[in-house]
Amino acid sequence: MSNSTLIAEDVSVEFSGLRALDGVTLKLDPGEIVGLIGPNGSGKTTLINAITGQVPLAGGEVRLGEAKLSGLSPRSIALKGIARSFQIVRLFNNLTVIENIESAALAHGDGLRKARQKAAGLLEEFGLTALSDALAVGLSYGDKRRVEIARALAAEPGFLLLDEPAAGMNEAETEKLLHTLQGLPRERGLGLLIIDHDMSLMMRLCDRLHVLASGGTIATGTAEEVRRNPAVIEAYLGS
Ligand code: ADP
Repeated sequence: MSNSTLIAEDVSVEFSGLRALDGVTLKLDPGEIVGLIGPNGSGKTTLINAITGQVPLAGGEVRLGEAKLSGLSPRSIALKGIARSFQIVRLFNNLTVIENIESAALAHGDGLRKARQKAAGLLEEFGLTALSDALAVGLSYGDKRRVEIARALAAEPGFLLLDEPAAGMNEAETEKLLHTLQGLPRERGLGLLIIDHDMSLMMRLCDRLHVLASGGTIATGTAEEVRRNPAVIEAYLGS
C-alpha cells in the first residue's frame, strides 16, 4: 500500500520518430480504480509500458509522489510497488497454483512461512482455494488470469496496472473477475489502472475513465460524463 499518488505527467513516447503518446497526463490515487479506454492504437498499452519502464520517454516524467520513476529499470519500478499484468498470461505452467503465488512472495523477500500464509490467504480471497494444488497449465483461462493477479498482489504493490484482464473471458469469468477486482482497492488501498475493451465491465468497475485517442487525452471523468462527451463519440465512431 502506498500513500502517494502515481503520476504520469506530460508523457510522450516515440517509436522510430512516430509519436505513440503525445503529452499525456494521468494521475492514480491509492484506493482508486481508473479505466484507460480508447480506440485500437490510441496508446493505452504504451502508457502502461511508459509507467512501468518498459519503454523510454521522449518527454515528461512518471513519479510516485515526489520520487521520480521514469529512467529507472522495470525491475526497480516494480520494487517501488508498481505491479502489472501483460496481455498474455505469464505463469509458471508446471508449478501448482499455490506454488505460483508462494514463489512471488518469496521473490518479494518473504520467508517460507509467511509466503505460505500469504499465498493461502490470497487464494481464499480469490475463491481459488479448491485449486491450490492444481497445476497452472490445466486451469481455465479465467482462473489463470485471476491467479496471475493474486501472484502480482503477493508483492504487496501500491498500484496494479492490468492490460486487458478480461480479454478472452466468457461472461461468467468476467463477472468473477469484476467481483475480485472491486474488492481489492477497498481492502488494500490499492490503486488500479485497467485497460479493457469490455465497456460494461469498465463502466461498472471504474471510478473514473481516462480516454485516449491518437496518443492524446480526449476526455476524463465518470462513465456517464465520458459517454456523453462528443470527442469520445467521435473517436469511437470514426475508428
Ligand atoms: P493501444 O494499446 O491503445 O491499442 P498501443 O499503445 O499498443 O495502442 O499502440 C500505440 C501506437 O504505438 C500504435 O500505432 C502502435 O503501432 C505503436 N507501437 C506500440 N508499440 C510499439 C513498438 N514496440 N514499436 C513500434 N510501434 C509501436
